[in-house]
Amino acid sequence: MAGSTTRLSVHGLTVRYGELTAVSKVDLSVADGEVLALLGPSGCGKSTLLRAVAGLEPAAGRVCWDGGDLAGVPVHKREFGLVFQDGQLFPHRDVAGNVAFGLRMRHLGRSPERVAELLELVGLAGYETRKVTELSGGEQQRVALARALAPRPRLLLLDEPLSALDRALREQLAMDLARVLRLAGSTALVVTHDHDEAFTLADRVAVMRAGRIYQVGPPTEVWRRPVDDETARFLGCGLIIPATVHEGRASCELGEVALPWAPDGAARLGLRPTALRPATSGIEGKVLQRVHRRDHVRLQVRLESGLVVDAVAGVLDTPDDEVTLALDRDGIALVGRP
Ligand code: ADP
Ligand code: MG
Repeated sequence: MAGSTTRLSVHGLTVRYGELTAVSKVDLSVADGEVLALLGPSGCGKSTLLRAVAGLEPAAGRVCWDGGDLAGVPVHKREFGLVFQDGQLFPHRDVAGNVAFGLRMRHLGRSPERVAELLELVGLAGYETRKVTELSGGEQQRVALARALAPRPRLLLLDEPLSALDRALREQLAMDLARVLRLAGSTALVVTHDHDEAFTLADRVAVMRAGRIYQVGPPTEVWRRPVDDETARFLGCGLIIPATVHEGRASCELGEVALPWAPDGAARLGLRPTALRPATSGIEGKVLQRVHRRDHVRLQVRLESGLVVDAVAGVLDTPDDEVTLALDRDGIALVGRP
Protein backbone atom coordinates (compact mmCIF):
# COMPACT_ATOMS: atom_id res chain seq x y z
CA MET A 1 0.00 0.00 0.00
CA ALA A 2 1.01 3.57 -0.56
CA GLY A 3 2.68 5.21 2.41
CA SER A 4 2.47 8.85 3.24
CA THR A 5 6.14 9.70 2.89
CA THR A 6 6.75 11.83 -0.17
CA ARG A 7 9.51 10.36 -2.36
CA LEU A 8 9.30 12.24 -5.66
CA SER A 9 8.43 15.91 -5.62
CA VAL A 10 8.35 18.24 -8.57
CA HIS A 11 8.25 22.01 -8.11
CA GLY A 12 7.46 24.56 -10.79
CA LEU A 13 8.69 22.30 -13.56
CA THR A 14 8.73 24.07 -16.91
CA VAL A 15 9.94 22.84 -20.29
CA ARG A 16 10.08 25.14 -23.32
CA TYR A 17 10.70 24.25 -26.94
CA GLY A 18 11.37 27.65 -28.51
CA GLU A 19 8.06 29.51 -28.35
CA LEU A 20 6.11 26.51 -27.07
CA THR A 21 5.78 25.90 -23.34
CA ALA A 22 5.23 22.13 -23.34
CA VAL A 23 5.18 21.85 -19.52
CA SER A 24 4.21 24.86 -17.47
CA LYS A 25 4.96 25.30 -13.74
CA VAL A 26 3.97 21.80 -12.75
CA ASP A 27 3.94 20.80 -9.08
CA LEU A 28 3.34 17.21 -8.10
CA SER A 29 4.43 14.58 -5.64
CA VAL A 30 4.45 10.80 -5.45
CA ALA A 31 4.44 9.05 -2.08
CA ASP A 32 6.29 5.87 -1.18
CA GLY A 33 4.66 2.89 -2.92
CA GLU A 34 2.16 5.10 -4.68
CA VAL A 35 1.16 4.89 -8.33
CA LEU A 36 0.33 8.31 -9.78
CA ALA A 37 -1.24 8.41 -13.24
CA LEU A 38 -0.76 11.47 -15.37
CA LEU A 39 -3.82 11.59 -17.60
CA GLY A 40 -4.30 13.98 -20.49
CA PRO A 41 -4.98 14.23 -24.21
CA SER A 42 -2.29 13.61 -26.78
CA GLY A 43 0.16 16.52 -27.06
CA CYS A 44 -0.56 18.00 -23.61
CA GLY A 45 3.02 17.48 -22.41
CA LYS A 46 2.87 14.18 -20.52
CA SER A 47 5.92 12.57 -22.11
CA THR A 48 7.89 15.79 -21.84
CA LEU A 49 7.13 15.95 -18.11
CA LEU A 50 8.12 12.31 -17.67
CA ARG A 51 11.37 12.84 -19.57
CA ALA A 52 12.16 15.89 -17.45
CA VAL A 53 11.66 13.81 -14.28
CA ALA A 54 13.95 11.13 -15.72
CA GLY A 55 16.57 13.76 -16.45
CA LEU A 56 16.32 13.30 -20.21
CA GLU A 57 14.98 16.79 -20.85
CA PRO A 58 16.45 20.11 -19.67
CA ALA A 59 13.85 21.86 -17.52
CA ALA A 60 13.41 24.86 -15.24
CA GLY A 61 12.15 24.20 -11.72
CA ARG A 62 13.11 21.35 -9.42
CA VAL A 63 12.84 17.57 -9.39
CA CYS A 64 13.58 16.17 -5.92
CA TRP A 65 13.93 12.71 -4.44
CA ASP A 66 13.42 12.47 -0.68
CA GLY A 67 13.73 16.25 -0.64
CA GLY A 68 17.12 16.31 -2.37
CA ASP A 69 17.42 18.19 -5.66
CA LEU A 70 18.34 15.90 -8.59
CA ALA A 71 19.63 18.77 -10.74
CA GLY A 72 23.20 17.50 -10.85
CA VAL A 73 22.29 13.80 -10.99
CA PRO A 74 22.57 12.24 -14.48
CA VAL A 75 19.87 9.91 -15.86
CA HIS A 76 21.66 6.64 -15.07
CA LYS A 77 22.40 7.67 -11.49
CA ARG A 78 18.78 8.51 -10.61
CA GLU A 79 17.88 4.82 -10.16
CA PHE A 80 14.66 5.29 -12.08
CA GLY A 81 13.25 2.53 -14.31
CA LEU A 82 11.72 3.43 -17.65
CA VAL A 83 9.14 1.69 -19.82
CA PHE A 84 7.91 3.19 -23.07
CA GLN A 85 5.01 2.50 -25.41
CA ASP A 86 7.02 0.09 -27.52
CA GLY A 87 9.18 -1.75 -25.01
CA GLN A 88 12.40 -0.98 -26.91
CA LEU A 89 13.76 -4.47 -26.30
CA PHE A 90 17.05 -5.64 -27.80
CA PRO A 91 16.00 -7.85 -30.73
CA HIS A 92 19.26 -9.84 -30.74
CA ARG A 93 18.99 -10.89 -27.08
CA ASP A 94 16.64 -13.52 -25.71
CA VAL A 95 14.13 -12.78 -22.95
CA ALA A 96 16.59 -13.53 -20.12
CA GLY A 97 19.24 -11.40 -21.85
CA ASN A 98 16.88 -8.46 -22.02
CA VAL A 99 15.85 -8.71 -18.37
CA ALA A 100 19.44 -9.24 -17.22
CA PHE A 101 20.49 -6.15 -19.14
CA GLY A 102 18.66 -4.05 -16.54
CA LEU A 103 20.75 -5.71 -13.85
CA ARG A 104 24.09 -5.38 -15.65
CA MET A 105 23.52 -1.68 -16.19
CA ARG A 106 23.54 -1.31 -12.41
CA HIS A 107 26.43 -3.75 -11.98
CA LEU A 108 24.16 -6.17 -10.19
CA GLY A 109 25.45 -9.24 -12.05
CA ARG A 110 23.39 -11.54 -14.28
CA SER A 111 21.57 -13.38 -11.48
CA PRO A 112 19.45 -16.07 -13.20
CA GLU A 113 17.39 -16.30 -9.99
CA ARG A 114 16.43 -12.63 -10.12
CA VAL A 115 15.57 -12.96 -13.83
CA ALA A 116 13.36 -16.00 -13.13
CA GLU A 117 11.70 -14.19 -10.23
CA LEU A 118 10.87 -11.20 -12.43
CA LEU A 119 9.55 -13.36 -15.27
CA GLU A 120 7.33 -15.14 -12.80
CA LEU A 121 6.07 -11.80 -11.51
CA VAL A 122 5.06 -10.60 -14.97
CA GLY A 123 3.48 -13.94 -15.90
CA LEU A 124 6.24 -15.19 -18.21
CA ALA A 125 7.77 -17.96 -16.09
CA GLY A 126 10.01 -20.21 -18.19
CA TYR A 127 10.35 -17.74 -21.09
CA GLU A 128 14.10 -17.19 -20.53
CA THR A 129 15.38 -18.55 -23.85
CA ARG A 130 12.56 -17.29 -26.06
CA LYS A 131 13.48 -14.77 -28.74
CA VAL A 132 11.85 -11.41 -28.07
CA THR A 133 11.10 -11.02 -31.78
CA GLU A 134 8.82 -14.06 -31.56
CA LEU A 135 6.73 -12.75 -28.68
CA SER A 136 3.34 -11.04 -28.96
CA GLY A 137 3.10 -7.31 -28.27
CA GLY A 138 1.69 -7.97 -24.81
CA GLU A 139 4.47 -10.40 -23.96
CA GLN A 140 7.08 -7.91 -25.14
CA GLN A 141 5.66 -5.25 -22.82
CA ARG A 142 5.81 -7.73 -19.95
CA VAL A 143 9.50 -8.32 -20.71
CA ALA A 144 10.10 -4.55 -20.83
CA LEU A 145 8.42 -4.23 -17.44
CA ALA A 146 10.51 -7.10 -15.99
CA ARG A 147 13.67 -5.46 -17.33
CA ALA A 148 12.78 -2.12 -15.75
CA LEU A 149 11.86 -3.71 -12.41
CA ALA A 150 14.88 -6.05 -12.20
CA PRO A 151 17.33 -3.62 -10.58
CA ARG A 152 14.66 -2.52 -8.05
CA PRO A 153 14.40 1.08 -9.26
CA ARG A 154 13.27 3.55 -6.62
CA LEU A 155 10.86 5.06 -9.14
CA LEU A 156 9.25 3.49 -12.18
CA LEU A 157 8.40 5.82 -15.06
CA LEU A 158 5.93 4.36 -17.54
CA ASP A 159 5.05 6.21 -20.73
CA GLU A 160 1.83 4.86 -22.30
CA PRO A 161 3.04 1.31 -21.61
CA LEU A 162 -0.09 -0.31 -23.04
CA SER A 163 -1.03 2.04 -25.87
CA ALA A 164 0.44 -0.06 -28.65
CA LEU A 165 -1.68 -3.08 -27.72
CA ASP A 166 -5.16 -3.92 -28.93
CA ARG A 167 -8.08 -3.19 -26.68
CA ALA A 168 -8.85 -6.56 -25.09
CA LEU A 169 -5.19 -7.19 -24.33
CA ARG A 170 -4.80 -3.67 -22.97
CA GLU A 171 -7.53 -4.21 -20.39
CA GLN A 172 -6.04 -7.51 -19.25
CA LEU A 173 -2.53 -6.11 -19.12
CA ALA A 174 -3.68 -3.00 -17.24
CA MET A 175 -5.05 -5.24 -14.49
CA ASP A 176 -1.90 -7.37 -14.50
CA LEU A 177 0.27 -4.26 -14.39
CA ALA A 178 -1.72 -2.90 -11.44
CA ARG A 179 -1.14 -6.19 -9.61
CA VAL A 180 2.58 -6.30 -10.44
CA LEU A 181 3.12 -2.71 -9.27
CA ARG A 182 1.37 -3.48 -5.96
CA LEU A 183 3.26 -6.75 -5.47
CA ALA A 184 6.60 -5.11 -6.22
CA GLY A 185 5.64 -2.20 -3.95
CA SER A 186 6.71 0.13 -6.74
CA THR A 187 6.56 3.88 -6.55
CA ALA A 188 5.49 4.83 -10.05
CA LEU A 189 4.52 7.65 -12.37
CA VAL A 190 2.53 6.39 -15.33
CA VAL A 191 1.55 8.54 -18.25
CA THR A 192 -1.54 7.77 -20.32
CA HIS A 193 -4.27 9.35 -22.44
CA ASP A 194 -6.63 6.47 -21.61
CA HIS A 195 -9.07 6.98 -18.71
CA ASP A 196 -9.61 3.30 -18.10
CA GLU A 197 -5.88 2.70 -17.89
CA ALA A 198 -5.36 5.59 -15.48
CA PHE A 199 -8.26 4.58 -13.25
CA THR A 200 -7.21 0.90 -13.24
CA LEU A 201 -3.59 1.60 -12.33
CA ALA A 202 -3.53 4.63 -10.12
CA ASP A 203 -3.83 5.46 -6.44
CA ARG A 204 -4.14 9.07 -7.57
CA VAL A 205 -4.80 10.61 -10.94
CA ALA A 206 -3.39 13.94 -12.15
CA VAL A 207 -5.34 15.50 -15.01
CA MET A 208 -3.13 17.43 -17.44
CA ARG A 209 -4.04 19.79 -20.24
CA ALA A 210 -1.89 22.11 -22.34
CA GLY A 211 1.17 21.70 -20.15
CA ARG A 212 -0.59 22.24 -16.82
CA ILE A 213 -2.07 20.04 -14.15
CA TYR A 214 -5.66 20.96 -13.34
CA GLN A 215 -6.65 18.37 -10.77
CA VAL A 216 -4.99 15.70 -8.64
CA GLY A 217 -6.90 13.23 -6.51
CA PRO A 218 -8.00 9.66 -5.93
CA PRO A 219 -9.71 8.15 -9.01
CA THR A 220 -13.25 8.21 -7.57
CA GLU A 221 -12.93 11.84 -6.51
CA VAL A 222 -11.64 12.96 -9.92
CA TRP A 223 -14.35 10.90 -11.62
CA ARG A 224 -17.15 12.26 -9.46
CA ARG A 225 -15.95 15.84 -8.99
CA PRO A 226 -14.05 17.18 -12.00
CA VAL A 227 -12.89 20.69 -11.08
CA ASP A 228 -14.06 22.49 -14.21
CA ASP A 229 -16.03 22.03 -17.42
CA GLU A 230 -13.07 21.15 -19.58
CA THR A 231 -11.88 18.48 -17.16
CA ALA A 232 -15.44 17.12 -16.98
CA ARG A 233 -15.67 16.97 -20.76
CA PHE A 234 -12.29 15.29 -21.00
CA LEU A 235 -13.58 12.73 -18.50
CA GLY A 236 -16.55 11.91 -20.69
CA CYS A 237 -19.29 14.31 -19.56
CA GLY A 238 -20.87 15.33 -22.86
CA LEU A 239 -23.55 17.45 -21.21
CA ILE A 240 -23.28 19.85 -18.28
CA ILE A 241 -26.52 21.17 -16.78
CA PRO A 242 -27.57 23.18 -13.71
CA ALA A 243 -29.27 21.38 -10.82
CA THR A 244 -30.34 21.84 -7.23
CA VAL A 245 -29.34 19.36 -4.55
CA HIS A 246 -31.46 18.85 -1.46
CA GLU A 247 -30.72 16.15 1.12
CA GLY A 248 -28.79 13.99 -1.30
CA ARG A 249 -31.24 14.31 -4.19
CA ALA A 250 -30.46 16.35 -7.28
CA SER A 251 -33.18 17.80 -9.51
CA CYS A 252 -32.54 19.14 -12.97
CA GLU A 253 -34.46 19.54 -16.22
CA LEU A 254 -33.96 15.83 -16.94
CA GLY A 255 -35.47 14.61 -13.70
CA GLU A 256 -34.42 13.68 -10.20
CA VAL A 257 -31.69 11.39 -8.97
CA ALA A 258 -30.13 10.39 -5.65
CA LEU A 259 -26.59 11.77 -5.31
CA PRO A 260 -25.77 10.92 -1.68
CA TRP A 261 -22.29 12.42 -1.94
CA ALA A 262 -23.44 15.82 -3.21
CA PRO A 263 -23.75 18.76 -0.78
CA ASP A 264 -26.98 20.78 -0.64
CA GLY A 265 -27.34 23.82 -2.85
CA ALA A 266 -26.95 24.86 -6.46
CA ALA A 267 -24.84 22.45 -8.50
CA ARG A 268 -23.75 21.65 -12.02
CA LEU A 269 -24.10 18.07 -13.17
CA GLY A 270 -21.81 16.51 -15.75
CA LEU A 271 -23.63 13.74 -17.60
CA ARG A 272 -21.82 10.84 -19.20
CA PRO A 273 -23.80 8.77 -21.72
CA THR A 274 -24.45 6.20 -18.96
CA ALA A 275 -26.28 8.89 -16.95
CA LEU A 276 -29.38 8.36 -19.06
CA ARG A 277 -30.95 4.93 -19.59
CA PRO A 278 -34.27 3.64 -20.89
CA ALA A 279 -36.80 3.29 -18.08
CA THR A 280 -40.52 2.83 -17.55
CA SER A 281 -40.97 6.40 -16.40
CA GLY A 282 -38.99 9.54 -17.03
CA ILE A 283 -38.54 11.95 -19.92
CA GLU A 284 -39.58 11.05 -23.42
CA GLY A 285 -37.63 11.51 -26.58
CA LYS A 286 -37.05 10.42 -30.13
CA VAL A 287 -34.10 8.18 -31.00
CA LEU A 288 -31.94 9.86 -33.64
CA GLN A 289 -29.11 7.37 -33.75
CA ARG A 290 -28.07 3.96 -32.41
CA VAL A 291 -24.49 2.72 -32.34
CA HIS A 292 -23.68 -0.80 -31.21
CA ARG A 293 -20.71 -1.00 -28.88
CA ARG A 294 -19.25 -4.15 -27.34
CA ASP A 295 -21.68 -4.58 -24.45
CA HIS A 296 -24.18 -1.76 -24.88
CA VAL A 297 -25.91 0.42 -27.44
CA ARG A 298 -25.16 4.11 -27.50
CA LEU A 299 -28.21 6.25 -28.30
CA GLN A 300 -28.60 9.81 -29.40
CA VAL A 301 -32.01 11.09 -28.36
CA ARG A 302 -33.89 14.34 -29.01
CA LEU A 303 -35.99 15.29 -26.01
CA GLU A 304 -39.28 17.16 -26.27
CA SER A 305 -37.48 20.33 -25.18
CA GLY A 306 -35.31 20.02 -28.26
CA LEU A 307 -32.19 19.11 -26.24
CA VAL A 308 -30.17 16.30 -27.81
CA VAL A 309 -28.66 13.88 -25.28
CA ASP A 310 -26.58 10.71 -25.27
CA ALA A 311 -27.91 7.64 -23.52
CA VAL A 312 -26.98 4.01 -23.11
CA ALA A 313 -29.24 1.00 -23.59
CA GLY A 314 -28.73 -2.73 -23.25
CA VAL A 315 -28.00 -4.74 -26.39
CA LEU A 316 -31.12 -6.91 -25.97
CA ASP A 317 -33.60 -4.15 -25.21
CA THR A 318 -32.62 -1.42 -27.62
CA PRO A 319 -35.57 0.97 -28.02
CA ASP A 320 -37.17 1.72 -31.37
CA ASP A 321 -38.06 5.27 -32.33
CA GLU A 322 -39.52 6.49 -29.06
CA VAL A 323 -37.82 6.10 -25.71
CA THR A 324 -38.35 7.07 -22.10
CA LEU A 325 -35.15 7.93 -20.25
CA ALA A 326 -34.33 8.19 -16.56
CA LEU A 327 -31.22 9.43 -14.78
CA ASP A 328 -28.69 6.93 -13.42
CA ARG A 329 -26.32 8.38 -10.84
CA ASP A 330 -23.49 6.11 -11.96
CA GLY A 331 -22.93 8.32 -14.99
CA ILE A 332 -23.18 11.64 -13.18
CA ALA A 333 -20.40 13.91 -11.95
CA LEU A 334 -20.57 17.10 -9.94
CA VAL A 335 -18.66 19.77 -11.85
CA GLY A 336 -16.68 22.52 -10.14
CA ARG A 337 -14.56 22.98 -7.06
CA PRO A 338 -16.16 21.88 -3.78
P1 ADP B 1 2.09 13.97 -24.86
O1 ADP B 1 3.09 12.98 -24.36
O2 ADP B 1 1.13 14.44 -23.82
O3 ADP B 1 1.38 13.49 -26.09
P2 ADP B 1 4.43 15.54 -25.50
O4 ADP B 1 5.07 15.75 -24.19
O5 ADP B 1 5.02 14.49 -26.38
O6 ADP B 1 2.86 15.29 -25.31
O7 ADP B 1 4.45 16.91 -26.31
C1 ADP B 1 3.98 18.12 -25.77
C2 ADP B 1 4.17 19.23 -26.79
O8 ADP B 1 5.56 19.49 -26.98
C3 ADP B 1 3.62 18.91 -28.16
O9 ADP B 1 3.08 20.07 -28.71
C4 ADP B 1 4.83 18.46 -28.92
O10 ADP B 1 4.67 18.69 -30.30
C5 ADP B 1 5.93 19.31 -28.32
N1 ADP B 1 7.24 18.64 -28.34
C6 ADP B 1 7.55 17.47 -27.76
N2 ADP B 1 8.84 17.15 -27.91
C7 ADP B 1 9.38 18.16 -28.62
C8 ADP B 1 10.70 18.45 -29.11
N3 ADP B 1 11.73 17.62 -28.88
N4 ADP B 1 10.87 19.60 -29.81
C9 ADP B 1 9.85 20.45 -30.02
N5 ADP B 1 8.59 20.24 -29.59
C10 ADP B 1 8.36 19.13 -28.90
MG1 MG C 1 3.46 11.03 -25.07
